[in-house]
Amino acid sequence: MSFEIDKVKKLLEPYNIFPQEIMELDGYASTNFRAKSEENNYLLKLYKDSSEYKLITAEENILNLLAAENLAFKTPVSTKAMHHYQDGSFSRLLLFIEGELLSKVPQTEALLHNFGTAAAQMNASLLDVENAVIQSRQLEWDMKCTLLNSKKVIYITDPADRKIVSYFLDIFEHEISPIQNELRHSIIHSDLNDNNIIVKGETLEGIIDFGDIAYSPLIYEVAIALTYIMMANEEDPFEKAKAFLQGYHKILPLEQEEIELLHILIPSRLCVSVCNSAEKKANGDDTEYVLISEKPAWQLLHKWLAINPLWIKNYFLTALDLETEVPELDPLLNKREVHTGRSLSTSYRQPIYMTSAAFQYMYDNLGNTYLDAYNNIAHVGHCHPRISKAITSQIRKLNTNTRYLYPQLGDYAAALTKTMPSSLTKIFYLNCGSAASDLAARIAKTHTQNSAVAILKHGYHGNTQAGIAISDYKHSGKGGKGKPDNIITLPLPKEYNGLFSNGIVYAQDAITIISAEISKGNIPAALIVEPISGCGGQVPLAPDYLKTLAPFLKKHEILLIVDEVQVGFGRLGNYFWGFEMHDIIPDMVITGKSMGNGHPVAAVITSEKLADSFANGMEFFSSFGGNPVSCTVAMEVLNIIKEEGLQENAKKVGAYLREGLQRLQEEHDSITDVRGTGLFLGIEFTDKEGNPNSAMADTIKEELKQRFILVGTDGPHNNVIKTKPPLCFSKSNAEHFLQQFKRALEHRSKNS
Ligand code: PMP
Repeated sequence: MSFEIDKVKKLLEPYNIFPQEIMELDGYASTNFRAKSEENNYLLKLYKDSSEYKLITAEENILNLLAAENLAFKTPVSTKAMHHYQDGSFSRLLLFIEGELLSKVPQTEALLHNFGTAAAQMNASLLDVENAVIQSRQLEWDMKCTLLNSKKVIYITDPADRKIVSYFLDIFEHEISPIQNELRHSIIHSDLNDNNIIVKGETLEGIIDFGDIAYSPLIYEVAIALTYIMMANEEDPFEKAKAFLQGYHKILPLEQEEIELLHILIPSRLCVSVCNSAEKKANGDDTEYVLISEKPAWQLLHKWLAINPLWIKNYFLTALDLETEVPELDPLLNKREVHTGRSLSTSYRQPIYMTSAAFQYMYDNLGNTYLDAYNNIAHVGHCHPRISKAITSQIRKLNTNTRYLYPQLGDYAAALTKTMPSSLTKIFYLNCGSAASDLAARIAKTHTQNSAVAILKHGYHGNTQAGIAISDYKHSGKGGKGKPDNIITLPLPKEYNGLFSNGIVYAQDAITIISAEISKGNIPAALIVEPISGCGGQVPLAPDYLKTLAPFLKKHEILLIVDEVQVGFGRLGNYFWGFEMHDIIPDMVITGKSMGNGHPVAAVITSEKLADSFANGMEFFSSFGGNPVSCTVAMEVLNIIKEEGLQENAKKVGAYLREGLQRLQEEHDSITDVRGTGLFLGIEFTDKEGNPNSAMADTIKEELKQRFILVGTDGPHNNVIKTKPPLCFSKSNAEHFLQQFKRALEHRSKNS
């Protein structure tokens, strides 16, 4: 026992209470004792010093007001006036409200409905009440002060968790804060958690602990109650929330605008809770009482991310018969068709209208959530709060071009080149991969004074005229005009089902082809390759291919350009750059896509020697390339990859996914190859005769869409499913992916 009974008895003397039994109870701002006397059960609340006195008096006024309302349930009432002790402390004695805590009983819908009704009755009684002390109170647990908790985010030790809290607090900052003052305000209890609700059977007996009482938007009262209800009811959080809401709305109708905010307010409250738990933990104050809601809060936050915000919004609106919001797809599609050419395509037989996204999840207009297993541009995750912040804070300060000096340009260049071989020190900034491959080819041509370029079959490097010229995938594909004269096409060194059995033979073949061209005077300035051919169908260049080829290229001064647009920045798990898997050092590296996580920034990275010979008098200038916003964003991407351990995650989750897919390959003859590394994998489909099975790949892609998973198909025959998700793709995402892939395959087998 941590308290002395005699001391507590002494504290009770001024009240004329002589208890037979005393128990210490949990408390936040006060030390609480339950005292049982013959006639009554009391709650003694002891406050250390008088600093709280004004506030407690204000609380007492509100409690007296509520007591006078004759509500159908109890609220705390003081038996006598508060008492001051000589040491400066003071106490008050409340009648103990008997019953069970809502947190300790099954939370049936009927009970939660009654809870909603009671909360609304209490709120209705206080709607027009004013109290200067409460109205001027500033408290971190008051939801209108949610952002005061932002500074505690640093105490969350796991960066993957931290980013989720920042994400939701960011939404609060940008969508709630600006309208907060206009929301309907009232004095509210502000902590209707299930440990403050007393029940008897299915009736609501009392509401206790007004310690967090605040003057705040009324809807925050509802949001807080719902947060704890949803945490406590893991199985059916929404149904249970609905029961409370309906009970509440019947008594005190909520407005459409208020309900529309709940999908933001509930996770915001969870964030406040986990921030405070993290802070307490960091200070060594991790008692059970303090951390009581930490685990369920995290569970619900993670769950919340995987639910479309529109679905949540509409669920609550529907529960109260209010108007729902369903953005229409058809007008969007029509407008697009009117104003863009048919060469601009959409994915899937029925296109998807995406309304928002978060990390590895994308949300559509119908309320569905897609697991994104496809978009490698959102490298560190969609709408990462650090990326949004990097962009917006820099764009408020300075966005100009490389003709002026600012630190971001050099800082990023230094950070990026640190990840590369020591020979690659110079960076040229651009805005897309196409411009980068175009420039790389130009640098090579300027340096060598040769105009041919060697490329790989099925390669893709960009949409400019020069990009198409060096992209066999385009100029040899539909609508293409075939290979331009000065292009030398080499077979794609594909190990599975390819022309040759291994990389060395492919390299010898390439040497033969290039040598024949050289002897005709058609000397290539460069060979451009992707470490794993994306459009070729996720084909890792056969081992030893580039290594065998490198001395030959060097001898003939043919520069090696490696296009890392798809695979760079840690995606491959074992390697930060794709060229590392081939054990060679390129003369030039092209980056794009993931470099800015969706912000248009790309680069060519090369040696001093090549940069020097490119400086032949003609200025290099890109209006947007290397602007301070792009450099800031790119730097943040690098930082996030490192701090969130994303390369390591790609390695771990990628290996897990690949093993799972290989198991599926054993069960399904239609899958004939699973390849790639990290989170850049391809699954090839072949029919019984050994022909590419593009119909199957397409069907599985569509099947996965029905199961809310995004993938793509590629390869010369479109018979390869490719997956290249944001690097925050988790093991449980991979498990889900594998389970659904298996079902899609089984569904297809049944129906074929
Ligand atoms: N190189 C590769 C390997 C690519 O995949 C792409 C784009 N798919 C590009 C270059 C061109 O990049 P962007 O679309 O940014 O111009």
